[in-house]
Amino acid sequence: MLNINKIREDFPILSKKVYDKQLVYLDNAATTQKPRQVVEKIENGYYNVNANVHRGVHFLSQEATEAHEGARRTVQRFLNARSSNEIIFTRGTTEAINLVASGFTEGCMQAGDEVIVSVMEHHSNIVPWQLEAARKGIAIKVIPVNDRGELDMDAYRALFSERTRLVSVTHVSNVLGTINPVKEIIAEAHGREVPVLIDGAQSVPHIAVDVQELDADFYTFSAHKIYGPTGMGVLYGKEEWLDRIPPYQGGGEMIATVTFEKTVFNELPYKFEAGTPDYIGSTALAEALDYVSAIGIDKIAAYEHELLTYATQRLKEIDGMRIFGEAEQKSGVISFLVGDIHHYDMGMLLDRLGIAVRTGHHCAQPLMQRFGIEGTVRASFAFYNTKEEIDILAEGIERVRKMF
Ligand code: PLP
Repeated sequence: MLNINKIREDFPILSKKVYDKQLVYLDNAATTQKPRQVVEKIENGYYNVNANVHRGVHFLSQEATEAHEGARRTVQRFLNARSSNEIIFTRGTTEAINLVASGFTEGCMQAGDEVIVSVMEHHSNIVPWQLEAARKGIAIKVIPVNDRGELDMDAYRALFSERTRLVSVTHVSNVLGTINPVKEIIAEAHGREVPVLIDGAQSVPHIAVDVQELDADFYTFSAHKIYGPTGMGVLYGKEEWLDRIPPYQGGGEMIATVTFEKTVFNELPYKFEAGTPDYIGSTALAEALDYVSAIGIDKIAAYEHELLTYATQRLKEIDGMRIFGEAEQKSGVISFLVGDIHHYDMGMLLDRLGIAVRTGHHCAQPLMQRFGIEGTVRASFAFYNTKEEIDILAEGIERVRKMF
């Protein structure tokens, strides 16, 4: 079992007081807090290992390059990718999906071709495709969800046509917590020779992900949601696909040779990494992944599931409680409304009690429309949360309910 008290000592911010109350941080789906080890890695990077990478013959540049490329290998191992060439550093999930949307559409799609997404996607897996729809005339098909917040797999199968070129869906919903059956989704698509992009922003921090086992063609995540730094993320892509899509941006690093007549692009992964990379961020991300691995992702998943079960039970005891997302396979996210209390009022009043939750549409407006609501209050858990914090949340909600 996890020693939560000891783990919490690694996260100084968790002892913070807000409005004279002990902070209860339950907004982990938006971003996670950082352990000392990650912050110290960043500090040490700037103090001791700072030099631009890939281009220097001097000692420091080589040391920085080795640290950056070592971080890439850490990500490769964490996702179980075949090769570190398949790991592209990006600014986050959003940039990774934009990279694929832009490149895949350019390299592998024609006007009238189709991409399948789901109604539970974050805007970052909707809007990039809409930009491509406007630019290139591709069409977007949408998988619906049932009332429990699970994808309708029959509807999914029925969406394929001879024009389907890509499926792009989230592994875990940031609103409903639903863990989608991505292995089955991928197998269905591959049966029709269609590749699949999985948005792993909400899965990689909470459950074990093996991209080879899933047979994902593209897989993305953000460092800041897995106890790492902001402004850093990862696109995993199978080499066969990354080779087929053109570069996302042009500049230094991504070229082999440049003349005004003809430019030859660099090999993978550098073809997609124009400009000076965030070599401090990459090493901090690797530190975060090592931190998670040392605890054990399976132990994290089991503990967070325990928190979810406990929180669901406690919240359901509250009069007027409506929980959105009751999938059988669910991660540590609870979206809810109580009676006719506006989500924003609930969030503001909980905040006054020191409880940090998210309110609003959670960048998933089509999903809100599906459930006929404007927004929800969302509590999302990490392995440093405790049942005592869930009690404080439940008591806080009850207090707000009585006020109304
Ligand atoms: N996809 C999902 C499912 C998310 O929850 C988020 C962020 O909340 C994103 C994508 C976007 O991540 P980022 O803002 O780190 O690029």
